[in-house]
Amino acid sequence: MTTPIGEGTTTVAPELPHRVLVLNSGSSSVKYQLLDMRDRSRLAVGLVERIGEETSRLTHTLLEGGGAEPRERTGRIADHEEALKAAAEELAADGLGLDSPELAAIGHRVVHGGLRFTEPTVITDEVLAEIERLVPVAPLHNPANITGIRTAQALRPDLPQVAVFDTAFHTTMPESAARYAIDIETADAHRIRRYGFHGTSHAYVSRRTAELLGRPREELSLVVLHLGNGASASAVAGGRCVDTSMGLTPLEGLVMGTRSGDIDPAVTFHLMRVAGMSADEIDVLLNKKSGLVGLCGDNDMREIRRRVDEGDERAALAFDIYIHRLKKYIGAYSAVLGRVDAVVFTAGVGENSAPVREAAIAGLEELGLAVDADLNAVRSGEPRLISPNYARVAVAVVPTDEELEIAGQTFALVGQVDN
Ligand code: ADP
Repeated sequence: MTTPIGEGTTTVAPELPHRVLVLNSGSSSVKYQLLDMRDRSRLAVGLVERIGEETSRLTHTLLEGGGAEPRERTGRIADHEEALKAAAEELAADGLGLDSPELAAIGHRVVHGGLRFTEPTVITDEVLAEIERLVPVAPLHNPANITGIRTAQALRPDLPQVAVFDTAFHTTMPESAARYAIDIETADAHRIRRYGFHGTSHAYVSRRTAELLGRPREELSLVVLHLGNGASASAVAGGRCVDTSMGLTPLEGLVMGTRSGDIDPAVTFHLMRVAGMSADEIDVLLNKKSGLVGLCGDNDMREIRRRVDEGDERAALAFDIYIHRLKKYIGAYSAVLGRVDAVVFTAGVGENSAPVREAAIAGLEELGLAVDADLNAVRSGEPRLISPNYARVAVAVVPTDEELEIAGQTFALVGQVDN
């Protein structure tokens, strides 16, 4: 197992390359961060949005040396290659160009690594071909990741490029959790099984939680709730994932911003037969028009809470359904783990929404869970406990940092660490 340089001290000889560029290439966006792995600080961050449209926008912020105001470029950025070149120009303008000898590697977020990629992996032609082979199980994500990798390779062919997979952390799931109960030959022929996603976040947050609790992660059983626009829960025993709520695709599990999460699979054939919908239309319905947005028209939890406080019934129903599903997974994973040391909230909603945390834990006293109202109300970017002293199980808020985790795993693989 590669030891990520997420925390602790890292000694890198000053003359060795020590920067890592992290790239997260989506279908119409590229997010990037340049980190200095000597102190894990962020030197610059940026986002290219609406690639391929007339209204593309690049926002770049220099953070090194106290930082600077964000810079913006607007106007059409045709494709990922142009996006990455524009980002590279912005970095160069800050003296952080990709041609710098200080750059050690580029770390790419890759959504689907199938069963083969259980660790961060240096990208070779063969590795790239395998990521391409996984496109049928990740049609929305892997193609954009592949484009990002090819473009970065063209810009710096000599530099190590590392793939860090969203699925990797979940490859430790036992078959009993990973398999669907469907015809086994059909499942195997089409690689249908539960892979899970958000693994980089679940891995990072599990490790940070062990630090917060001051206990070795080998001893801990955790329920981690990653609640962003996409949302997933995982059961983590001894630092290894034993179950997670997302499946073959990120559609399964919790109620999300625009995704339904768990439904009876028969809903899909019912819609085909009764409503005459095509597979593609149902795909869009369940992935883009369902979840919170489908229930009440909003997917931002701040807006939903504002509406609930004003007495809006649709928003209240959406909130209740969201919380009900969360509770089910907390209960299910408590049973899967047998004993829980902490329930941990992370990502946009988990880190920021005190009402979601309060409602999700309310009534779970029999499971040893409780939230202290004052601690829950604290706003902070630091990992923290929100359970009262008497509670048998800790409840924690631990901010996630997927980019730092990707950079740490990338650098651990290729960096020349001088200990
Ligand atoms: P993703 O990476 O999946 O796009 P994030 O983890 O950034 O998502 O989470 C985004 C979501 O977090 C928003 O859609 C919103 O619902 C929620 N969120 C962000 N800030 C707050 C806040 N202050 N209070 C409640 N919810 C918030």
